Amino acid sequence: MRSFVAGIVTETNTLSPMPTGLADFVPTRPSDPAPKDGSLEAFELAAAAAGDTLIRGTTSSAMPGGVTVRSAYETMRTRLLEELEAAMPVDAVFLPLHGAMVAEGYDDAEGDIITHVRERVGPDVKIGVHIDLHCHLTDAMLDGCDALVIYKEYPHTDMADRATELYTMIADAHAGRTRPTMGLFDCRFMGIMPTNPQPMRGFVDAMMAAEGSDGILSLSLGHGFPWGDVPDSGARMLAVVDGLQVENGEAYAAQVAEDWGRRFFALRHDVAVKPLTMDDALDRAVQVRSEARGASGPVVIADQADNAGAGAASDSTFVLRRILEHKIEGCALAMTWDPIVVHVAKAAGVGARLQVRLGGKMGPTSGDPLDLDVTVAGVEDDLVQLWPQTDGKLPSPAGDCVHLVVHGFVGDAAGPDVDVIVTSRRGQVLGLEPFTAFGIDLTPDRIVIVKSTQHFHAAFGPIASEVIYMAAPGAVAPLMTSIPLERADLHKFPWVDDPFGDA
Ligand SMILES: [Zn+2]
Repeated sequence: MRSFVAGIVTETNTLSPMPTGLADFVPTRPSDPAPKDGSLEAFELAAAAAGDTLIRGTTSSAMPGGVTVRSAYETMRTRLLEELEAAMPVDAVFLPLHGAMVAEGYDDAEGDIITHVRERVGPDVKIGVHIDLHCHLTDAMLDGCDALVIYKEYPHTDMADRATELYTMIADAHAGRTRPTMGLFDCRFMGIMPTNPQPMRGFVDAMMAAEGSDGILSLSLGHGFPWGDVPDSGARMLAVVDGLQVENGEAYAAQVAEDWGRRFFALRHDVAVKPLTMDDALDRAVQVRSEARGASGPVVIADQADNAGAGAASDSTFVLRRILEHKIEGCALAMTWDPIVVHVAKAAGVGARLQVRLGGKMGPTSGDPLDLDVTVAGVEDDLVQLWPQTDGKLPSPAGDCVHLVVHGFVGDAAGPDVDVIVTSRRGQVLGLEPFTAFGIDLTPDRIVIVKSTQHFHAAFGPIASEVIYMAAPGAVAPLMTSIPLERADLHKFPWVDDPFGDA
């Protein structure tokens, strides 16, 4: 099999104040090595194992942010199509995408990409699409491809495994061994669902156990991306069945999707994160720590509302302000995006004591800047985070980082000190390195605050004495009913308890 792979990858928070431009997309060009443990490497390894030819185009990825600029999107789409045409003839095309990209004039950028690729290659070439579970699933996406496989795990530790499965599915279809046929069901649900705890753990395990029997090739739950305010948002269940094994493949796929979608919906009251308010979360953390449960690690608080990975600025100051006001001891916080403070702190050097105006620069959802009395305790250029995956650790560049020991507000610097990691590059906490690289021990006497919704959990969950999800103010309000949605169809849970009306 001779195939082509390229993609455009970002998740669009349509409520974010920051446009996503061409310079925000980092390209992995055909001549670059595929990032370790990611989907591109998985496609390469699968092709090599099969003795196939895989031609790589450019795959560009941007940190989630606001709506992608039209010219940026169209420029990347043109390049993808030109690279595809240069690689033709091909038997198959693999598209690693995100699934929740919105560009100016394009609510469904992925559907648009897939449609254009189909126009170029014609009806007989197999197209396989690999996306994040925080996706909007649309008819245009399904109509244009042969098979679509979505990550099952959140944190996303299974990107490579799902890419390998998709490769096999498309290769089987190309060889005529199967005929992938897809069905979709709108679960009428919106929420954020980690897959580590029950009942989601059991649901994901059950999906995997059902694959390979009764003509089912693949099951995926698209969780949806609540901060992408588009008509097709929300959770949807996708089934891929083998049209050669079953009668009336399309009807059967639709039935399987509905059966599994309703099975998921029945869990609706128990699957989503229920974050505490900021004050309750901090109180809880202090209480858990005081109970000294014999845990080996710190109490971990997720500042979900300021997660760069969902499009927030990650420079909000609400939590740090509250910690300083309440003089809570032993806190460490990562990572606040403030390139100016990084610049100033690096220039001053390790050991310098100075005043900085930190964070709160990107608008009302970031809060006010804080004038702080700090000591520069460490500098790390080009810090790399290692994000635990199924078979390794995915390196993620975190920019130039500085460790500030914050003694308090200017004029009130009596402590207790707070360790704050400031970065030059907007990004969420994925690994332990933002702390450990600076010698901040993750011990039971610490309260660690990470700007992340759930991806922190792969590294921090195993060591935390408790993980506390927090709904501080911010751009990624974790309570669904407080997101200012205007275009999404809200005839779904949690706005309506039983939108199917069969209770
Ligand atoms: Zn995701």
